[in-house]
Amino acid sequence: MRIGVLALQGAFREHRLMLERIGVETREVRLPEHLDGLDGLIIPGGESTTMGKLAVEFGLLEPLQELARSGFPIWGTCAGFILLAKDVGQEQPLIGGMDVVIERNAFGRQVDSFEAMIDVPALAAVTEGEPRPFPAVFIRAPVVKEVGPDVEVLAKVDGKVVAARQGKLLGTSFHPELTDDDRFHRYFLNMVKEG
Ligand code: GLN
Repeated sequence: MRIGVLALQGAFREHRLMLERIGVETREVRLPEHLDGLDGLIIPGGESTTMGKLAVEFGLLEPLQELARSGFPIWGTCAGFILLAKDVGQEQPLIGGMDVVIERNAFGRQVDSFEAMIDVPALAAVTEGEPRPFPAVFIRAPVVKEVGPDVEVLAKVDGKVVAARQGKLLGTSFHPELTDDDRFHRYFLNMVKEG
């Protein structure tokens, strides 16, 4: 199995390190040809407007839009989640694919960044022993304001949706790659393996 990590900008190294720790082969994706032969793709956190513009510049936006439409497994964290949304309330290049409306920087300036232990029932499949909460790191994080009928909500914070899945597309508002809890990475790898 080989997982690509979009490496135009943002926290891509941390995702690679986490995957390699689990024993998965990775590849940094900067050009369309880097998508060949991958089994799944992670779009990291960073700045979604910048990442989107770079994707356009490097000829990656259309191939990524096509992959997202085709049922290829893609996981977006934070800015990556924003890019997978169909609507973010402003003009910027998006990959789309998920039937969600997202609000960027939704926790406001007062709480720029924070950590919260959140319940994610879907992680039971990759949790040894008793269920336990996931340490979610939020950095100028987005929230999901509306979800379509095919979207499964995986987690909420203060009643706000912060993790969701639609088919093979996964989105988290927070940064599992900045913790040492690899359960979200293993959850995504299971999505990839399920074929
Ligand atoms: N606030 C960023 C954006 O809107 C996302 C922040 C992040 O990825 N940590 O793109």
